[in-house]
Amino acid sequence: MMKAAEIAAAVQRRERSAAEFVRASLDAADRLNPTLHAFLELFHEQARQQAAEVDRRIAAGERLPLAGVPLAVKDNICLGPTPYGGRTTCASRFLEHYRSPFTATAAQRAINAGAVIIGKTNLDEFAMGSSTEHSAFGPTRNPHDPERVPGGSSGGSAAAVAAGITPLALGSDTGGSIRQPAAHCGIVGVKPTYGRVSRYGLVAFASSLDQIGPMASDVRDAALLLETLCGVDPLDATTSRVPPPSLLPTLDEPLPQLVIGVPKQARSRGNHPAVDDAMDRTIAALAGMGAEIVEVDLPLLEASIAAYYIVAPAEASSNLARFDGVRFGRRAELRDGEGLYELYCRSRAEGFGPEVKRRIMLGTHVLSSGYYDAYYTTALKVRRRILNDFNAAFTGGHGRPPCHALLMPTTPGPAFRIGEKTQDPLALYLEDIYTVSVNLAGLPAMSIPRGFADIDGKRLPVGVQIIAPPFEESTMLRVARLLEAR
Ligand code: GLN
Repeated sequence: MMKAAEIAAAVQRRERSAAEFVRASLDAADRLNPTLHAFLELFHEQARQQAAEVDRRIAAGERLPLAGVPLAVKDNICLGPTPYGGRTTCASRFLEHYRSPFTATAAQRAINAGAVIIGKTNLDEFAMGSSTEHSAFGPTRNPHDPERVPGGSSGGSAAAVAAGITPLALGSDTGGSIRQPAAHCGIVGVKPTYGRVSRYGLVAFASSLDQIGPMASDVRDAALLLETLCGVDPLDATTSRVPPPSLLPTLDEPLPQLVIGVPKQARSRGNHPAVDDAMDRTIAALAGMGAEIVEVDLPLLEASIAAYYIVAPAEASSNLARFDGVRFGRRAELRDGEGLYELYCRSRAEGFGPEVKRRIMLGTHVLSSGYYDAYYTTALKVRRRILNDFNAAFTGGHGRPPCHALLMPTTPGPAFRIGEKTQDPLALYLEDIYTVSVNLAGLPAMSIPRGFADIDGKRLPVGVQIIAPPFEESTMLRVARLLEAR
């Protein structure tokens, strides 16, 4: 599969047609999806029509930055009835037959820019998980080793890009769900600053943490898609008025004397050697380019897991209260004598899977009177201190220069085997040690591929993470771009 930037350029110049790229993408999906299960739905007919529409717009003289680029969209991002039919399942039995009446702003912006959506991708139910095994419709497999998970929750989107089915995908990241699957599948995944990209039409998991972002096979393509997504949206009051960044034109501009912070906690005893090796090689590459490498302290990194697994389920338990069997999705059949209460209980008991129920129970517990201060208020204090620690790293002081960006692993290890962690929710939550603090602090961060771990004759990708100050996506992408060349 060609890069998105090349596809868009070729379609814009009318050397090739959107129709031909979309056909190739759908053919690849037909060939690979039976093994990978990256897509829950494919838009054969609608995508062909949309490609023809893009070709017409180009012929009429429009300039479209994503002209004819096949795009995969995570199935917790709503697409309205036209042209894509509206099904938005969140990989949940609860929403198996739900049809959204509206389209998410992020998806609409990509469509306006000329992208053609070829399908909706698999995820952990309601984006709760790190392996895509919590999908009610079966797991997605990692294209590098089908016995292993692709990561999650945006595992379908990551697998679609890694397998070359689409050059670009949309994911969502509440605690790592774009970056972690990107690392496990060997691609680039960007979680924008909180407020950069509209959440309108993203089915809410934890509203103070959720962001939509791009997944791509290289940094330029990720920047290309991110540029179309950013900006204020009247339909999402949390979108920022900070002007959208100009990412592509600055991508290859030289950076000032770079200072990169490496948290001492980045070298945890739990890291796979290939992860430490990827960090070492990245630090050496940056130093070789003249960057100053400084050690920074994120003392609450380990506590970030506990804080996240209080804040995120608390918000989830509130957000998921809307699924009551009355207004959205699944409605249980009532037996004689049963009433509204049974309707709520039975619809929710039948509709939600075990991980979603676990989150709702956790969240309800930490918000309940008597426990609220002990858990929820404490977690918010930890959240604030994590933000302060990041700020201290970015602003410098005590003889240390301000950091332009921080470098951390994305995950402690490469992709694990399907089934390996399903019996132990805590082991799965620990997978998020390097990602959740970024969401708690609202920062932009991205994962880039940085080599492989050789395990059982398979080459499993390893990623590293670049974290930047709020709204510094441009710097972050330029650092990533520098590294891509080495
Ligand atoms: N793995 C994390 C969780 O299970 C993050 C999920 C996400 O970012 N959507 O909550």
